[in-house]
Amino acid sequence: MIRNHPSCGGWIEAICGPMFSGKSEELIRRLRRAEIAGQAVMIAKPISDDRYDLSHVVSHSGHRIRAAGIEDPGALAPLAAEYDVLGIDEVQFFPGSVVEVCVALADRGVRVIAAGLDMDYRAEPFGPMPELLARADMVDKLQAVCVRCGGPATLSQRLIDGRPAPWDGETVMVGAHDAYEARCRGCYERGDAAAGVGGRGHPSPAPGPDGR
Ligand code: ADP
Ligand code: ZN
Repeated sequence: MIRNHPSCGGWIEAICGPMFSGKSEELIRRLRRAEIAGQAVMIAKPISDDRYDLSHVVSHSGHRIRAAGIEDPGALAPLAAEYDVLGIDEVQFFPGSVVEVCVALADRGVRVIAAGLDMDYRAEPFGPMPELLARADMVDKLQAVCVRCGGPATLSQRLIDGRPAPWDGETVMVGAHDAYEARCRGCYERGDAAAGVGGRGHPSPAPGPDGR
């Protein structure tokens, strides 16, 4: 059995970063290695993530592994009961209770590997991610390649008709990967609050009353 980490008990590994940073690839790689070590592995993802295929996690480069789509984080516990390693992809789409479930599973001896976007297209922390990253035993923050300058990208740029998406748009647009680009901080463009306006070097609008 591969035990690169704690010598007994479970733990939480978090893999985060922007779109195209290789989170799904890294999750698949770790689960494949656990399988080679003879461990029973399972991967869960939110049912709303319909990227390419409901029954698999598929990376942008086409690697895939079988996955179960679940709606509620409560469904993770019964699923994990039969497995040594539980992978969770797109964990940012689950409600905050997913963190409690991950902690309980790790306490119970399960190796939990959770991959998700640390920030949304507004460059704001995404859903349960801040707490997950705080509570995880191990955290890897991956970088993509900035499509503008080729540097390391940490942000997900959302584009609508080639322009930065408005600041007050919908957060979730799963599967529409053609509307997103990986960008570095210098190349990232924040959209204005009004639809369709935004641009490089534009001053950002003041945040609204809800902080957005
Ligand atoms: P994530 O789950 O973080 O969105 P994936 O694991 O699905 O990422 O995909 C990573 C793969 O996407 C890379 O190995 C590479 O083949 C491809 N890719 C496409 N665009 C980029 C980019 N701008 N930067 C890095 N990788 C990219
Ligand atoms: Zn750049």
